[in-house]
Amino acid sequence: MVLDWLPSMPDAPHPTHRHISPQTIRFCPLCGAVLAPRAMEAGKRPEMVCTGCEFVYYMMQKVVAGTIPWRDGRLLLTRRAIEPSLGKWTFPGGYVDWGETVEAAALRETSEETGLTVALGGLLGVYSYASSPVVIVVYRARVLGGTLTLCHENDRLEWMTPAEVPWDELAFPSTMAAMRDFLTRPDDGGPAAGSALPA
Ligand SMILES: [Zn+2]
Repeated sequence: MVLDWLPSMPDAPHPTHRHISPQTIRFCPLCGAVLAPRAMEAGKRPEMVCTGCEFVYYMMQKVVAGTIPWRDGRLLLTRRAIEPSLGKWTFPGGYVDWGETVEAAALRETSEETGLTVALGGLLGVYSYASSPVVIVVYRARVLGGTLTLCHENDRLEWMTPAEVPWDELAFPSTMAAMRDFLTRPDDGGPAAGSALPA
């Protein structure tokens, strides 16, 4: 689970949790020479460009894929056992691997983190924040089988009714946004539970 960034909230990011950004990237990944900012066109913001081979290192967000599994009027939440947001609740998800589709990553991460096999029930939403290095793609999910199983990234798995969702203890802004969307857009077998949302 690596929904791993959060702007300006007290519990994150963990000090040892680092990201590539124009401020932190230093060397060309292709030849190892130093990168330096350079405007590729007049008036445009500078890109990090290799001083050795001219490779332009465009900074782009990473893609995270997640699911909100839904069964018998309850949605599945996981409690994080790792930083950032250790002890907070979210839904299964993680980085899309190189060479993997977003949908396949959503299925894989759900299986790895919960032990469940699910079918994707449609795109719930795409969540991004100007100051965050990740784009989070979230799908509704229908449980096909499997047994709830913890992994090193979470220490609790819980089926919750919409009224039981711990809104004050959710891990990330995207967690809250996706869960609100899930509970207020009742299609594909999802709930009609807008009244369970916080004001
Ligand atoms: Zn280079």
